[in-house]
Amino acid sequence: MPNNPSDRQAQVSFTPDDALAMLMEGNCRYVDESIGPRNYSAREIASTKEHAPVAAILACGDARVGAELIFDRGPCELFMVRLAGNFLSDYGLASMEYCVEFLNVPLLMVLGHTHCGAVSAAIRVVENKEDLPGRLFVLIDAIEPSVLRARASNPEDLLVAATEENVRRQVRRLRTISPIINATQATGRVMVVGAIYDMDTGAVNLLG
Ligand SMILES: [Zn+2]
Repeated sequence: MPNNPSDRQAQVSFTPDDALAMLMEGNCRYVDESIGPRNYSAREIASTKEHAPVAAILACGDARVGAELIFDRGPCELFMVRLAGNFLSDYGLASMEYCVEFLNVPLLMVLGHTHCGAVSAAIRVVENKEDLPGRLFVLIDAIEPSVLRARASNPEDLLVAATEENVRRQVRRLRTISPIINATQATGRVMVVGAIYDMDTGAVNLLG
């Protein structure tokens, strides 16, 4: 596996397993507090000729979920699609397809996290019929199916179960509704995974 993350010319040859290993090894360094110095200067980014991210990550917009930090990656390495509740919108799906079709990204990840405010809000709406102002119903509508499915199994902790189900649901959707992702997945060029970032420990745990 290429282990020099700044060798971006080589990124297009990364396999999905290489890319996933890079992220998970980076997360181990983050948890161990052994991350090295990174150069995020404008000059460093300007010197990157090619846009060749190693992974595209659909993550929550939560300010505590900084993917470059928690995976210990440098600038220009992660293509981020972020919005509250990390659900797959049409725009997000198109962004993921762009990554696969034009940037040769080998790994697509849906990244949920513990203590997610968007999932908590969806649970309150489902459980207490809470009314939210403005356009917030759009977020709730997108997350509610995962809350209902999780609740059907009477979990000990509905927030944990709904957060995991929400990630699994977006992974299923990514894998099935896009012909581009579906086809590249079938050949092994692309892998789609789901994971949860544990804010209490810093660890990212892959969902099976
Ligand atoms: Zn969140």
